Formats: sequence, structure tokens, C-alpha cells
Amino acid sequence: MNEEFEKRSKSAIKGWITRRAKQKAKKATEKALKGWDTRRENQAKEEARAEKASQTAKKGWETRRENQEKANKKVKKSKSNVWLNIFVSILAFVIGFAGVAFGFCHFTKPTNDVYVSGNLAFHFLELGNEYTGDSTYIKAGDVDILIDAGSRYGSASTIANYIDDYVTDGKLEYVIATHAHQDHIAAFCDAGSNGGGILSRFDIGTIIEFTQTTKTDEPTDDPDDITAVYLNYVAARDSAVAKGAVVYDALECYNNQNGAKRVYELTDNIKMEILYNYYYDHITDDENDYSVCVMFHHGDDKHFLMTGDLEEHGEEHLVEYYAANHGGLPECVLYKGGHHGSKTSSTTALMEAISPEIICVCCCAGTTEFGANVGNEFPTQAFIDRIAPHTHKVFVTSIYPDIQALHPTWTMNGNITVTSSKQGIEVHGSNNDTFLKDTDWFRAHRTMPAAWASMG
Ligand SMILES: [Zn+2]
Ligand SMILES: [Zn+2]
Repeated sequence: MNEEFEKRSKSAIKGWITRRAKQKAKKATEKALKGWDTRRENQAKEEARAEKASQTAKKGWETRRENQEKANKKVKKSKSNVWLNIFVSILAFVIGFAGVAFGFCHFTKPTNDVYVSGNLAFHFLELGNEYTGDSTYIKAGDVDILIDAGSRYGSASTIANYIDDYVTDGKLEYVIATHAHQDHIAAFCDAGSNGGGILSRFDIGTIIEFTQTTKTDEPTDDPDDITAVYLNYVAARDSAVAKGAVVYDALECYNNQNGAKRVYELTDNIKMEILYNYYYDHITDDENDYSVCVMFHHGDDKHFLMTGDLEEHGEEHLVEYYAANHGGLPECVLYKGGHHGSKTSSTTALMEAISPEIICVCCCAGTTEFGANVGNEFPTQAFIDRIAPHTHKVFVTSIYPDIQALHPTWTMNGNITVTSSKQGIEVHGSNNDTFLKDTDWFRAHRTMPAAWASMG
């Protein structure tokens, strides 16, 4: 069922991409042809004007010598204008033709390139099992980035199959490991994954990882132990380094130390900024608060925030630190629902600071993975109540299979893509584009917050 679902998801997204590419190509051709028509009309007008000037000159030539000389000059000038105009028109035509040819080539490149070329696209991935986890693939122009690779070792194939269509050169320029929980790093590892983990399946450029972890280097025999996953991650990371990858931790990035950068300029108008999290250099026993926090900027006014599994203490420090040192966090187009929509993240303080327009939650809705207590089942009612005043555009990747009777597949919105381009922001789910509040699952399991109820 999973394979078939993946196939369906992929073909749906490809179909949409192809349609969009065709529309773009058609528009570009029409625009180019229209430009050419306009230039032709202008040329004809110039020629008519020149002809008129020539006739006037001839008339003057017959009456007075001075006028004749003047007229001659005028004719020459007009003629030179005609030639100049013809030259300019030919040049414009050649440029126009080249433009059409370029547009044609550009828009008939493989569809996945068309989709993201010059754009910034975030893909929140389903992970091929019933376990909540994160893996966000980002395409910024031609630059490929993967933030986290959850939820289990076996998710490596699911992630690789999806991103293979986009990572055309086989290289992930940036990989970010937010924190050492298996639902974020397991699929980076080779252990237990046929075909290897993400770090060995792709060429890796720069790895940006958590600065601290509660995990120790104590070996363990339990393959499901999260410390074992951490040690497997370290092994996979070191293998990638042996093959040429470089590794920085988030604090080195924030401090611009040892070759690491706080701000990576991915294209001429897309930046990736590693934010400062208080727990990069302060101790906590909550692994989630060690999460690497990243903000993407598209131009000057569009911002996108990913905070991994950062919890309320981490969020409070984040808001305070940026208010005190950087003029505050900006309003964000997109926010990845903190800690899978848990009750302990996406605090009012953070939501008021960034007032997100779109929220994507990576989880299996209704999961009992963290105890069969409805207050702990993602996305939690507490999370929903805090985000509702800011936006109703909330999307969720998957659904927990225990309640398949209600939903015959494991998917909610599916693989969610948020694309920022000149045309604005588009959200697309491989399964559907339904807001969380409009789903059957939401009606059956959550209470509509007042802010959403008043929308009708
Ligand atoms: Zn997590
Ligand atoms: Zn976590």
C-alpha cells in the first residue's frame, strides 16, 4: 500500500509540475511573440516616418538650394535613422528569438528543474511508516538541502526515492541534523537500511549539526536504543567526511568560526541563516532544546522558520535573544510546527513574534507513539489553540494507521510542498490540499478553536 501510495503521490505531483511548466512555457512564448509583433509594428511606423521625411526633403530640394542642402542632410539623417532602426529591429529580433529559444529550452528542461528553478521550495516528507519524524527537503535554485532524516533507518529509501527526482547531480550541498533523536537522524545512518543511509547515498557538501547532545559515547547492544542511533549517525557522518564533506556545529555557524557561516547565500536572493539557540552553549537535559534553528530568507520580505523539536524554554530564549540583539524575529511566511505539533512547543511568545501564514506539521496525526493520552497526540489541541489566531493554513503530512477505518491510507496532506516564487506562495499536498480544520480527522478528534470557527 505504501509503494502504491508513493507512486500515486509522485505521479500527482509530477502531473501538476508538468502542467505548470507547460503553462509557463506557453506564456513565455506568447510574451516573446507579442514583443516581436510590437517591434515589427514600430519598425513599420519608423519606415513610414522616414519615407515622409524623404518626400518633404525632395520638395524642398526643387525650390531652394539652401533648403535642398538642409533637406539633403535631413534625408541622410532620416536614412541613417532608417538603417539604424532596421539594425536595431534586427538586433531586437535576434535577441527576441534568442529569448524565445532560451525560454523554450528553459521551460522544457526536466520538469523538476522547471518547478524549482530560481524558486525556493520546501518539501515536508512522509517517511514510509507509522512513526512520527522529520525530513524536510529544500530546493533553493539549484542548491539541495536536507534538514533531518527521520523517522527510522528504513526511511532512507523513502526519502531517497523522493528527493532523487530533484537532486539531479546526486549532491546534497547542505545537510542539517537538528538534534540526536532517532526520528530526526536515523535515516542518515547505514545501519539496518538496505541501500545505505542518506549520508552514503548522496555526495554531501556541508553538514551542519547540533552543538550538544545528552547522548554519550557509551556503546549499547540495543539497536533501538537512541544512543545506538546517535553512534550510528556519528559513524555515517565520519564516513561522509572521509569522502570530502565538511562538518560544522550550529554554534560555529552562528559565530562564523572555523570556516562555518551564519548566513549562507544559496542564490542571489535566497539566504539560509543559522539562528542562535541559547542551548547551543547552555546545558539542558531536554534533547529537543538542543535543536538547530534555521531561517530561510527569499528576498528581503519572505522568511521561513524551522526550529526542529525546540521546546518552550528554547523558544522563549529564541524570541528574547532576537528581540534584544537583532531587532526581533521577522514575521514568517512558513513555520514548521515545532516538535511535530506538541503541546510543549509553538508557544504564544513565538507565534506572536513570527505570526506565521502557513504551518506544516510533520507527524502521524493521532499517533499514540508517545502514550495514549489525547493531550500528547500530535497535533495537540494545545498547539492548535495557540496557532489558530495566526493562521488556518495548517497542513499535516500523515495519519496514524490505528484509525485507518476513517482514512483508508496513512496519508493526510501527504508530502507537502510550499513553493515561493515570483508568483507568490503556493502550497501543494501530494494527497490533497485540505486545511487541517476541514479534514474528517480534525472534526472527529479535535475541537474547533474560536478563531477558526468564526471563519465558517
Ligand atoms: Zn522529533
Ligand atoms: Zn526530538
